[in-house]
Amino acid sequence: MSETKIDDTRNRLIEGATGPWEIVLGLEVHAQVASRSKLFSGAAVGFGGGPNEQVSLVDAAMPGMLPVINRRCVEQAVITGLGLKAKINCWSRFDRKNYFYPDLPQGYQISQYKDPIVGEGEIEVERDDGSVFTVRIERLHLEQDAGKSIHDLDPNFTMVDLNRAGTALMEIVSYPDMRSAEEAAAYVKKLRSILRYLGTCDGDMEKGNLRADVNVSVRRPGDPLGTRCEIKNVNSYRYIQQAIEFEARRQVAIIEDGGTIRQETRLFDPGKGETRSMRSKEEAHDYRYFPDPDLVPLELDPAWIKEIEAGLPELPDAKRARLVKDYGLSAYDAGVLVIEQARADYFERAAKGRDAKLVANWVTNELLARLAKDGLDIEQSPIPSDDVAGLVELLEEGVISSKIAKQVFDHMWAGEGTPGAIVQARGLTQVSDTGALEALIGELIAANPGQAAAVKAKPQAVGWFVGLVMNATAGKANPGAENAILRARLGVE
Ligand code: MN
Repeated sequence: MSETKIDDTRNRLIEGATGPWEIVLGLEVHAQVASRSKLFSGAAVGFGGGPNEQVSLVDAAMPGMLPVINRRCVEQAVITGLGLKAKINCWSRFDRKNYFYPDLPQGYQISQYKDPIVGEGEIEVERDDGSVFTVRIERLHLEQDAGKSIHDLDPNFTMVDLNRAGTALMEIVSYPDMRSAEEAAAYVKKLRSILRYLGTCDGDMEKGNLRADVNVSVRRPGDPLGTRCEIKNVNSYRYIQQAIEFEARRQVAIIEDGGTIRQETRLFDPGKGETRSMRSKEEAHDYRYFPDPDLVPLELDPAWIKEIEAGLPELPDAKRARLVKDYGLSAYDAGVLVIEQARADYFERAAKGRDAKLVANWVTNELLARLAKDGLDIEQSPIPSDDVAGLVELLEEGVISSKIAKQVFDHMWAGEGTPGAIVQARGLTQVSDTGALEALIGELIAANPGQAAAVKAKPQAVGWFVGLVMNATAGKANPGAENAILRARLGVE
């Protein structure tokens, strides 16, 4: 693996009382594997079951029950590793990570310690300004999720729901290659996008199917790494950023006060916008890791890995490059479109045979803004891709002006039909008939001699007449024809 490619000039420094500080961030993302059944049992995965209805005897850790590895979960981990340009380890092993939790009936989590299924890889991440940085992946390992303790159903008891117990997780560990809260959020966004393209995790952060443990430390620029604190289970981009901002400033304040940072696990409280101590950080030896004697090492056939690699879909980076090359889009617009595969597909369907840049503008500006406002995904768009293509076709042919197109789009959004039908029904066709425009403009100039004289003295004032014509035609005048006639009649160059 190459040296870190972090561009230090872009680091965002915190200005402390005693000088600047650099934030150093590494993330451990837990991504629930998209699979029908659990990592070591045949119990169903997913929402919908009542409490403890999706629990096998293995998940409940009944004595004598033995785990059996789920081939599909292994395949998903391999697909993900390949998507992260990572090394796939043909020999890996499962270990027991021992700790007590009421929702972990085994008394240990089956995880991978020294020999994970996936080794080092990397992800290219775009910042908001379009610049790109690399985050190196240290490893990806498979492990079981725990169940859920529910504290608010009963005043006297804690309830336990084991439906999630034993569900397969991929823990994706990055190197500490991020230097700001924005970079960390951008990394999670990109990782989520890749996982969704690969179909290995649905990335539903609200349901906790993708959550990040954020390791935060601060140091003087150029110094060795400082002591880190780990903020557990942060499950939105906004919370990730808030937690990092708060935690970094907390650490700077302690050090500047002469204190030292204690390595610990902390929780983020979204209500208060702060992190608080949960427990002192365990060291690996506290967990007494040892190879799980119920499971043989996992040996993968290199030919199987090759086969999987050949079936990988086009991923966001490659798709973005292709949209730029084939459709002439800006890198920014292409980036907005490829973050979700469904968006890129929608764009490509609408752009077929049309002015692709115009289509991209309508999709990225109008459509995505409205979808976001109503909390809809592009799959739920009330406007099908064919109708965006139809709207752009009307614009290309000069049937409507771009101003009218916005109105047509409103009607399309309201479900009034295809753009062609809306333009017909509402009489929105652009007035390009120069005879009619000539007559109208002649009347308007005659009725406003003072303004006409003013335009002759000050040509910029022609805009006053443009507004008048637009009002008189309800915005349907062809702007090119209108301008030419006005300028000729008013004697403006
Ligand atoms: Mn883990």
